[in-house]
Amino acid sequence: MPTTELRTDVALGVAIPFRNARGRVARLGPVVDQVLSNHKYPPLIEKLLAEALVLTALLGALLKEPGGQITLQAQTEAGAIDLMVTDYLAGELRGYIRHDPERLADIGPNPSLFALFGKGYLAITFDHPTMKERYQGIVPLEGESLGHAAQSFFAQSEQIPSIVRLAAEKRDDGHWSAGGLLFQHLPEGEEGRDRLHTRLDHPDWPHVAVLAGSVKNEELTDPELPLDDLVWRLFHDEDEVRTLPAIHLTRGCRCDPDYVRSVIARFPADERKAMVGDDGMIHVDCEFCSSSFAIEPGKLS
Ligand SMILES: [Zn+2]
Repeated sequence: MPTTELRTDVALGVAIPFRNARGRVARLGPVVDQVLSNHKYPPLIEKLLAEALVLTALLGALLKEPGGQITLQAQTEAGAIDLMVTDYLAGELRGYIRHDPERLADIGPNPSLFALFGKGYLAITFDHPTMKERYQGIVPLEGESLGHAAQSFFAQSEQIPSIVRLAAEKRDDGHWSAGGLLFQHLPEGEEGRDRLHTRLDHPDWPHVAVLAGSVKNEELTDPELPLDDLVWRLFHDEDEVRTLPAIHLTRGCRCDPDYVRSVIARFPADERKAMVGDDGMIHVDCEFCSSSFAIEPGKLS
């Protein structure tokens, strides 16, 4: 992929072998616009979802298997936000946020996670279809931002020292630009070796964390700054920095009328009857893309 394409809707893997570190950088533009165009969210929710989509892209870019899936779910017991879901499969991203607009209106700009979610939890699920494996980790939604919560996820759930930075802004032209980076310390190397010796005080890691953490929000969101140039700005003094093949990102929803029909068909007849609307059809909405499916109850069996 030529450099000119490393600007938006793309994720790039980075390895810094001598520091035993790996990373991912990602930037989204039209993908965020497309996801948000399916909803009518207030600006605060749009920004949060843009950041969540970037985080999901960064996590998705960690997957080694092309058919692997990442699902990020943030939920709360009594927050202004009820539920946030984003997922990634084969470079496709989607997401939605269920929230209470009235309670949200009382929250000022740049709220903490607690202001938005109250007592909330972040669950990240990795699905590896060919190994038929599913792994899920859950951490409290704490800290200033979604990036901090993701750092806690890796520290608590995976024992991997990590740094995560996320930024999103609606630009003057009305389009969104969102970007992020994720760097991790893997002292035993990149590939599947024992991580028991991962230690926060390993001298290489603070060095990488300081360099990665020096990134500015404007750099993450600048749609004119190619991701490989950004990596170079941060790490040009390192002996060796490798970039991996870029992953092109798109907005994609996997809702499918046939699948919806098969799910409805599994309900008992009396429950299906209760779902039928005034027009004689069963209506099912996709929360991700707001598509609405009308199903004829007579054609289910
Ligand atoms: Zn959908």
